[in-house]
Amino acid sequence: MMAYNDVNFTCCVCGIAITMPEGLYQQRVTDHGEFYCVNGHRQRFTQKDKKEQEIARLREEVRARDSLIETFRSEANELWDEREGLIALLRECPLCDWRSSKRIPRGGVRAGVERVHQQLVDHLAHDHGLPVPQEQRLLEAGA
Ligand SMILES: [Zn+2]
Ligand SMILES: [Zn+2]
Repeated sequence: MMAYNDVNFTCCVCGIAITMPEGLYQQRVTDHGEFYCVNGHRQRFTQKDKKEQEIARLREEVRARDSLIETFRSEANELWDEREGLIALLRECPLCDWRSSKRIPRGGVRAGVERVHQQLVDHLAHDHGLPVPQEQRLLEAGA
């Protein structure tokens, strides 16, 4: 035999005390089934139990977060694809079939782009006789 504590609450119509075994109370809270006060007022728990509401709220929060993560992930993948396309363009010489051999790692984009740019500038200068840009010359003089 399972022992239940009694749950005390009041009739929502007349305010008279209602005592219910905890097991039945939980059942009525969950199934929203009807019951009566001693004065015969029919009632039921229309509101979800607090714990039930909290679980539903958390579940909704998790679901919203999951879909947000999914959105970010697909946006990130799209950006990554776009970026890959841009990098491919960036690594190509506009004048010949030459391509930069430098890689641009996901975690070091700025430095990677700089290396590709540097190599392309060198290629343009050496293979096509293009003048090295002013700032480049200053950098080389300083190095
Ligand atoms: Zn009542
Ligand atoms: Zn070239």
